[in-house]
Amino acid sequence: MMLQKTMLYSILFLKCPQCRQGEFLEAHPYKFSKMNSVRERCPKCNLKYSIEPSFYTGSMYVSYGVGIAFAVAAYMILLILGFADSPLRIFIIIVITLAVFFPYIGAISKAIWAHFFFKYDPVKAQEVKNDSRTSQ
Ligand SMILES: [Zn+2]
Repeated sequence: MMLQKTMLYSILFLKCPQCRQGEFLEAHPYKFSKMNSVRERCPKCNLKYSIEPSFYTGSMYVSYGVGIAFAVAAYMILLILGFADSPLRIFIIIVITLAVFFPYIGAISKAIWAHFFFKYDPVKAQEVKNDSRTSQ
């Protein structure tokens, strides 16, 4: 599928930055016991996800921007639906939106952070795609 080759797909669906096929996190972002813990290596291409200790601390800067994007999106939806008439209501809706999406915001922030440092490798992606042993 063509969509699977885009960086956006890889970030939104939390895939490996190098092959864009392997899972990036140990579990679903909403599984709170393992919340947003990044795997040691890509299960498909064996890329080491963490190049140094506390590598993903920097993703907090990214999560700030992602959080703003979610807040703006929530406000836009209120505007379109015509419910943006009271500042208190806007504030409450934005807080609820951030609370609901907070695990996913953290997860895609880590994925974006990883995509800054690891390049997509089409050769490796083709290799793991053709290797049936690594298919999930
Ligand atoms: Zn991979």
